[in-house]
Amino acid sequence: MSWVYDFAEGNKDQKDLLGGKGANLAEMTNLGLPVPPGFTISTETCRAYLAEGGMPDGLAEEVTEHLASLEEAMGKTLGDADDPLLVSVRSGAKFSMPGMMETVLNVGLNDTSVGGLAARSESERFAQDSYRRLLQMFGGTVLHVESELFSDALDAVKKAKGTESDLDLDAEDLKGVVEAFKAIIKEHTGRDFPQDPREQMDLAIRAVFDSWNTDRARLYRRQERIPEDLGTAVNVQAMVFGNFGMDSGSGVAFTRDPASGAQGEYGDYLQNAQGEDVVAGIRNTVSLADMAEIDARSHDDLMDIMGRLERHYRDMCDIEFTVERGKLWMLQTRVGKRTPEAAFRIAVHMVDEGLIQMDEAVLRVTGEQLALLMFPRFDEDAERTLLAKGMNASPGAAVGKAVFDSDTAVEWAARGEDVILVRKETNPDDLRGMVAARGILTSRGGKTSHAAVVARGMGRTCVCGAESLDVDTKGKQFVVRDGATIAEGDVISIDGSTGEVFAGAVPVADSVVVRHFEGEKLDDDLAQTVARIMAHADGARRLRVRTNADTPEDAARARRFGAQGIGLCRTEHMFLGERRELVEKLIVAEDEAGVEAALAALLPLQKQDFTEILEAMDGLPVTIRLLDPPLHEFLPDLTELSVEVALADERGEDSEHARHQKTLLTHVRRLHETNPMLGLRGVRLGIQIPGLFRMQGRAIAEAAADRLAVHGAPRPEIMVPLVASVRELEIVRAVLEQQIAEVEEERGIKLEIAIGTMIELPRAAFLADRIARDADFFSFGTNDLTQMAWGFSRDDVESSFFSRYFEHGIFDVSPFESLDQRGVGGMVEMGTAKGRETKPDLKVGVCGEHGGDPRSVHFFDAVGLNYVSCSPFRVPVARLEAGRSVL
Ligand code: PEP
Ligand code: MG
Repeated sequence: MSWVYDFAEGNKDQKDLLGGKGANLAEMTNLGLPVPPGFTISTETCRAYLAEGGMPDGLAEEVTEHLASLEEAMGKTLGDADDPLLVSVRSGAKFSMPGMMETVLNVGLNDTSVGGLAARSESERFAQDSYRRLLQMFGGTVLHVESELFSDALDAVKKAKGTESDLDLDAEDLKGVVEAFKAIIKEHTGRDFPQDPREQMDLAIRAVFDSWNTDRARLYRRQERIPEDLGTAVNVQAMVFGNFGMDSGSGVAFTRDPASGAQGEYGDYLQNAQGEDVVAGIRNTVSLADMAEIDARSHDDLMDIMGRLERHYRDMCDIEFTVERGKLWMLQTRVGKRTPEAAFRIAVHMVDEGLIQMDEAVLRVTGEQLALLMFPRFDEDAERTLLAKGMNASPGAAVGKAVFDSDTAVEWAARGEDVILVRKETNPDDLRGMVAARGILTSRGGKTSHAAVVARGMGRTCVCGAESLDVDTKGKQFVVRDGATIAEGDVISIDGSTGEVFAGAVPVADSVVVRHFEGEKLDDDLAQTVARIMAHADGARRLRVRTNADTPEDAARARRFGAQGIGLCRTEHMFLGERRELVEKLIVAEDEAGVEAALAALLPLQKQDFTEILEAMDGLPVTIRLLDPPLHEFLPDLTELSVEVALADERGEDSEHARHQKTLLTHVRRLHETNPMLGLRGVRLGIQIPGLFRMQGRAIAEAAADRLAVHGAPRPEIMVPLVASVRELEIVRAVLEQQIAEVEEERGIKLEIAIGTMIELPRAAFLADRIARDADFFSFGTNDLTQMAWGFSRDDVESSFFSRYFEHGIFDVSPFESLDQRGVGGMVEMGTAKGRETKPDLKVGVCGEHGGDPRSVHFFDAVGLNYVSCSPFRVPVARLEAGRSVL
């Protein structure tokens, strides 16, 4: 095994060993492109160095060997007094970590070799400029001297000379800078800048390894979910010089526009500069078109190489290059990062150009990218005033009046105003306000804070952790760091895709992708591009996609978005609003007659709900779930009601209302539970109050009969929640079957209504073979299954201790957001297999939030589910991912 590999030894697929930069330098070398020679010290070496706390045995010898061949290839010796070889020492991990780790250029220069470089290049100025750059980079990154000390000293020399540009400094000025930099190093490290070229190189290599573990690198990895134990490679490469004069320069380029995906190269070039000058923005760069004017030959070579790279990688590449005295050199390439819009366009363009097949195009885009394209956006051309930047917690563009508490949010929204709820952080009490608001802005908390998680769940735009805002909820205002104040009622705009917060109303445009899904005929390139990808994914996928919808409007929209039915119609919302009173009557009924009267009042309302939904989904399956939540959710809050009754008592009130409230309180007390999620809910309600499920069953059967009467094609399925034992299902099934039979008899028709169950308790998963005897289908409720498997209260834990769990790597994403495949997924797999032992054709779906999560969709496909069901806006995402899963 070796620690070190020559560029000629590797290839692009060896990123694990050589890091991204090293693997791609090797690939370009082997393609015969002009790459300055060099070698890569592997990531394995870094891992060994970090584990042992020092350079591993044998490394020094291998470096010496590779350096010797490099010297031979270049015909020069590192740091030679007359004609020095100079090298760059650069980091390069498997995954790009832009700006997180170290780079040192011009290694090999010292007080004598700088003279040799000046003589050979016939430019004293160039040699001194190169030396001062080495001192600056080495001082900062290897010797840890504060980098401002160097830039301040350089600025002082420029100021004395009366200029702002480095280019105006001559050789003498730069000599002065070199002396100043050496003095800074001496003063701040207590030692002289090392003159020995090999010592410089070894220290630089060490510094790159050490930079793997800086705080900022660790933080970046945590955010980007890059494993901690990969380590970085180090690339040692012969220097080429972009700072040789005006016939030299450095640039970065993309083979296509990474923002829009448009065909045609895109890049920046800077004359007489070394790499970091281009990105640092110290002088204005020129476009590649302008570069053609400056140096036509290098430009042509560059275009030629970019074309070759694209054809070779069959993807958009980004590159770094240098021109040294009219000769082009390639310093880096990789498959480039791009916006979601560019990802879709590039994939489809490449199909049309014959570079890739449609299957591959679908694999090159993701459901998450599609989701981002579906959110409304701020018009980028509009004028806008940035107030602050926080975390992009939940995408979208929201405009509204700032409000600082939920009551105001609800009240203002009810009178038709758009509001943005601004809080330091949110908690479950803010839910009403969050629902009412167009967007949520917080000054504290990360992407997994309560605000972020809940907002994403609801599809609300959210910016969280905007720390420069001083939010004063009592004073109903926030202050921006520069002093601007936004008071209640002032309009702000928040961009959940970028984390930006703007003053005033920034104009918003609807997503063309959503307009396309809605069925609008658009002459729009992006819409057509997405349509082609979706058509291919739909043609490929096995998994069907349904939606979770409980209104006819949502059902119709989801259908336009491609839903193949409803996988979960939650009936609880149908008991809210004005109907709450009817539920109250049911609960407080003193006798059987009272119960029957309350149910009779609810029946026609339920029937109408179901008829409308069956109509919206005519011809497609509609899974209606019987009432699930504990009844107290439909009653007033215990504490509030107790206070109201106590106050009324104290005042001696004896009105009818007061008496009613008092009776109600006894029932609220009776129904109060310490752990309502584990209490009287789901199928248990149906057993405790049989009339309830009977009424719902009847409403469904009658709705289906009504639809048949008008020649519709109703396909209702009744789903029983929270079943743990086959006996529970048996009891409820008998009640439902009787209702269906009665309606069939009354109407003289035959109804096809399947009766199935949710599998959302571990016990049900374990006993799925028995439960399948009485179930026509299964649907995994992975929200409850996750809650019950981990013992995590789904309403509490995400805003409580999850951030600690992320820090400790217990999981890297909330199990409520992306399925815990090993644990909860294991139960899904087992439950499906057991169910099909009993009924080989058992239809199995999933209707928890995970049904719209890309990673989870792949899992559900792999374990053989028939469908996933998700919220309407996630339907296209699930369709795309189901296609990607089989390709
Ligand atoms: C579930 O538990 O996954 C489910 C879909 O039901 P609910 O979210 O309504 O409890
Ligand atoms: Mg559930």
